[in-house]
Formats: sequence, C-alpha cells, structure tokens
Amino acid sequence: MGTSNQASPAARPLTLHGLSVEGVNQCVHCGLCLASCPTFSELGTEMDSPRGRIFLIKSLAEGRMSLSDSTVRHLSLCLDCRACETVCPAGVPYGRLIEAAKAEIEQRQPGAPTRRLFRWLNFGLLLGHPRLLALAASGARLYQASGLQRLARRTGLIGLLPGTLPAWDALLPPVPAKSERVPPPRVTRAAGSRRARVALLTGCVQSVIFAAHNRATARVLSKNGCDVVVPAGQGCCGALNAHGGDHARAVAMARATIDTFEAARADVVIVNTSGCGAHMKAYGYLLADDQAYAERARRFAASVQDLAEFLAQEPLRGPLSPVPLTCTYHDPCHVVHGQKIKSEPRQLLAQIPELRVVELTESDWCCGSAGIYNLTQPEMATRLLHRKVSHVLTTGAEAVVTANPGCILQIQAGLDAHTAAVRVMHLVEVLDRAYGGAPRGELKRPRGERQPSRGERGR
Ligand code: SF4
Ligand code: SF4
Repeated sequence: MGTSNQASPAARPLTLHGLSVEGVNQCVHCGLCLASCPTFSELGTEMDSPRGRIFLIKSLAEGRMSLSDSTVRHLSLCLDCRACETVCPAGVPYGRLIEAAKAEIEQRQPGAPTRRLFRWLNFGLLLGHPRLLALAASGARLYQASGLQRLARRTGLIGLLPGTLPAWDALLPPVPAKSERVPPPRVTRAAGSRRARVALLTGCVQSVIFAAHNRATARVLSKNGCDVVVPAGQGCCGALNAHGGDHARAVAMARATIDTFEAARADVVIVNTSGCGAHMKAYGYLLADDQAYAERARRFAASVQDLAEFLAQEPLRGPLSPVPLTCTYHDPCHVVHGQKIKSEPRQLLAQIPELRVVELTESDWCCGSAGIYNLTQPEMATRLLHRKVSHVLTTGAEAVVTANPGCILQIQAGLDAHTAAVRVMHLVEVLDRAYGGAPRGELKRPRGERQPSRGERGR
C-alpha cells in the first residue's frame, strides 16, 4: 500500500471528491460491525471490513495514503450494503463515506477507454434518457427472442466480446415484450374512502424489466384508498449513479426527479425498489449545498416512503383472497439497512390468508446483486449468492418474497442454477394476488404478470 510523505493538515475538513467524509471520525474502532459485514465474513481480512475501509477512507482524505491498487481493491469490494450502519453504536454514516470514496476512485482512476465508454453509455446515456433505455430494451428483447443470444452462447461467440460484455450478457435479465412494458395509468382512483394522493416512481430498470410490478403497485395502493398518480416525464432517480461513483450525474438526476414529482402535488411519493427509496430519502443530504434545491430536497425526501412502509401504517383493506403458498422473505439491503424497514413487509404478508412465512437465516445479508456489483465483482457476488441460495433451500419455501429488482434477478438466477423450483417474487405481486391480480384485458397480450420461465431466462 503506497503512502505519501505529506503531513496531515489538521484543521482541513476531510473530503473525497469534494464530498465530506468527516463521519470517519465517529468510528471508535469497536469492531461491532465486523460480524455483520459479508465481505469480512467471507475473507476475514481487516481491510475488507467496515473498520478497515473506514481507516483507508480516513487515510486517503488526510493525504496519508495514495490510491494504490490494493486500496482500490478493498474499497471496490464493499457492497455498499450498509449492514455495518445498522449495528454501529457510534452512528458512522458508512454509506456516505463509501460513496465519496467510490466517486474519488472514479475520478482518479477512470480506467481504460472501453470501460469509460461503457460507463458513459450506461450511466450517462441509458439511465439518463428513458426513451433510449426503452429503445435499448427493445434491442435486447430482439436479441433474446430471435434466438441470437442462445446462438452466441452456444457457439462461444459471446466470449469474444471485449471487456465485461460477456458478463453483461450472462446477467441480462429476460426483457418482456413491449406490450408488457406498459406503465400504470397516469391516474388510478382510490377504491373506497380516500386515504391519500400518492405519486409512484416507476424507475428506470424497473419500468423496463418489471413494469408489471409497477402496475400491481398502483392496483394495491388503489385498493388501500390511494389516488395514484404516475408523473409524466420521470426518469432515473440517480441511485445507480451515486452508488457507482458518478456523483455529478446523480445530483442532476436528483434535481430532475424533484422537479417532476413536485408538480404531481402528492402527499407521499411511493417507491417499490429499495435502492431508489433509500437514495431519494437522502436527497436532502445530497443537495444540502445547492441553494436552489436544498430546502425543496429536504421536503421531497421527507415525502418519500417505501411501499411496505406506507401500507403497513394501517391494516390492509379487505377483502383479501387466500394465497396458499409457503414463502420466505429476503430483506433487500437498502430497505432493511438503508431505510431500517424490517417488520413492515412481514406484517403485510401475515395478513394474507393461507400464506405461510418461514424465516430465512441471514435474511438481511446481501445476495451479491448490489446494483452492478455482480458485474464488477463477480467472484464475491457469486460467493454471497451461493450463501443466500443455500439458506433459501433449507427453508423448504416455494417462493422467496423480496422488494428489489436486483435481488429478484440475482436470487432467481442462483435458484435456477440449482434447478430449484423456487420462484422469487416482489412483495407487491403477493399482495396483488390477494387482491385478485390484473383485470382481464389490462394488456393487449395479457401474459405479463408472471415471471418468465427458466427456459425464457436462457440460463
Ligand atoms: S461498529 Fe461503528 S464505531 Fe465500531 S468499528 Fe464499526 S464503524 Fe467503527
Ligand atoms: S457496506 Fe456492507 S460490505 Fe461494505 S463494509 Fe459495510 S457491511 Fe461490509
């Protein structure tokens, strides 16, 4: 690990990439976080623990250490799962520290031109422009449905692609047909007495891969007394950019999201994807130094609620049909650690007749998906996925219920690899089923409410 000869300037605020990392000074080195850290659990090395990474971040910010390859490796191996935050008695804001560190790494070590181009394509072009994302989804759908993907895999041609493209191909989820990617109606009226007017975030990847979950969310909210509006022109909230060290674009996306949702004049902004919800609740911090947006960002962040968090505030409105299923629940990191929501999804599931929930060992441990972590750190992601799948298989559950698209795809892929007949579902799919599901004729070709079969997944 390289060190610099520079003395540490005592009074200077600690920053990386211009972002405060003063939170490192809250760490009292007690080590209580170590047992909760997936990477420390797997590797047993101090520098792959929260305490070790905090030491690295502090040393970098104080100029006592250079950004060596090993420092980058230890920091990049962090999942940003924030399990350490949950158990930390000193309140170290670890998520903010690691995001600042990742932004610093991206600025100082952006990598080869192909990597930079790839990041720009994803973070700059696709996530920032919903129409281009939809176009790319249509291209991916054609690639999969035409059999080209199967052919490229069978002939080994896929292995000839440069950089991480083969890994992207392996993880490309089955893209639904365009007719199944329709968003919920602009407005869905409350059934029965009105409880609130809510605005729904449809998300970037979510709106392409799991549009059915968004439609189900609107239906379930309506059954629970909400007028549901889907603001036009909404884009990506910037969570993936922030987690990937792309701070500038994350800020721009946060401003645009606030502009769009303020116009909807809703009481609550509902989010059904964990990373987006946790990130949007942090807009107040993200835009604290932005004169034009600071106050608006604070107000907006206070109006954001996870779907389960919102619904669990009142008993579910009936009638609820039986859902005869044995399931287990996986806590997405950015729900349980990022938003401290743990009992609410279980509370909702417990109200569904004939649904049996079996607790999952290490339910709040990361499955290895973690944004694009399974692409950038495939070895660790696979280790954590195997750990998750082995716990799922011991439950004997027929389904895993969770609340994040990345977790759904990752855990389903792991279960498929074990040829386990276990389906991974979003919480809202289960709730929607209890309410009778999609009305007939919702789609032109109404087959979008189910998960693709294993064959369709191409894995
Ligand atoms: S639990 Fe908190 S204070 Fe203790 S070592 Fe971990 S980060 Fe530091
Ligand atoms: S965020 Fe997760 S992986 Fe990173 S140090 Fe904390 S517990 Fe470990």
